[in-house]
Amino acid sequence: MKAVLFYKHGGLDVLQYTDFPTPEPGPGQVLVRLKVAALNGLDLWVRTGWPGIKLEYPHIPGADGAGEVAAVGPGVEGWQEGERVVINSNLGCGKCEACLGGWDNRCWDWHLLGETVRGTYAEFVIVPARNLYRLPEGFPERAAAAAALVFHTAWHSLITRGNLRPGETVLVVGASGGVNTASIQIAKLCGATVYVVGSSADKLALAESLGADYLIDRSQEENWSKVVYKLSGRQGVDVVVDNVGITFPMSFRSAKKGGRILTVGNTGGAKFEIDNRFIFARHLSIIGSSMGTLHDFSTVMDLIFAGRLKPILDRDYPLAEAPAAQERLESGAQMGKITLEI
Ligand SMILES: [Zn+2]
Repeated sequence: MKAVLFYKHGGLDVLQYTDFPTPEPGPGQVLVRLKVAALNGLDLWVRTGWPGIKLEYPHIPGADGAGEVAAVGPGVEGWQEGERVVINSNLGCGKCEACLGGWDNRCWDWHLLGETVRGTYAEFVIVPARNLYRLPEGFPERAAAAAALVFHTAWHSLITRGNLRPGETVLVVGASGGVNTASIQIAKLCGATVYVVGSSADKLALAESLGADYLIDRSQEENWSKVVYKLSGRQGVDVVVDNVGITFPMSFRSAKKGGRILTVGNTGGAKFEIDNRFIFARHLSIIGSSMGTLHDFSTVMDLIFAGRLKPILDRDYPLAEAPAAQERLESGAQMGKITLEI
């Protein structure tokens, strides 16, 4: 099969478009013939590497993908060759206490497709059968692949962990990233009032088109927590979605008494100082999560299929041009998800 892979960490030049043996599905596994892969920030971090990451080389990146069942391994029931599927990249073992309790994203032997396991920048990929979800007739693979990881992550954070309720106020720190655009839509669907802090008029226009109620341009308003405070009638908001990290001090200031700070990542930096007085004096809860459960995945994908939630699509590149696609992602110029056509 054709695949994009690398043998060592590094810049864009370590990515090679080349031939690689088509894998064979083992017990409980399915071989998927991919039509589309979608990029995530994770792909860049896996390529550049971090202390302690252990990959089996050559490594194939890519968490998101959609296509059709090409073959099933021993013991797999309920799947036929040719069925169109989207992949849930969150790989739980299915056997540990966390998995059996329905919290497969807390699995004791947790893996993410494309992170430590060979991923979707390829013509074929192997995944456990439980990680497949059927595409309805006519629903495009590209939209499904682009939606999967980011909507899954945002749903778990806002709804399952954050317990967001209709009528609450939500601040999303960041206007255009995949998880943020998903969070804006999920919060609106839930019946919340949504504030968005963004870095440019373009990105805020995107947030507005998704239903955001209050737009704050941080290039104009450096101390955006003050603006949130004023706009919310000097109350602050119920929920802050902060996947930037270094913005936590401002997020604390933006939260109402009893507010929840939700986080699934740190695109701006992982280490920062916290003023504990905000946490206790405002009765704040900090709620972290990573990816989502099998139940979250089917719930959110059904809303995607029904058109109630929509992934924002940026450019589409042929698989062979994965380095150019990653370059665009690295530049931050994209508005929505970048995809690879396979
Ligand atoms: Zn497990």
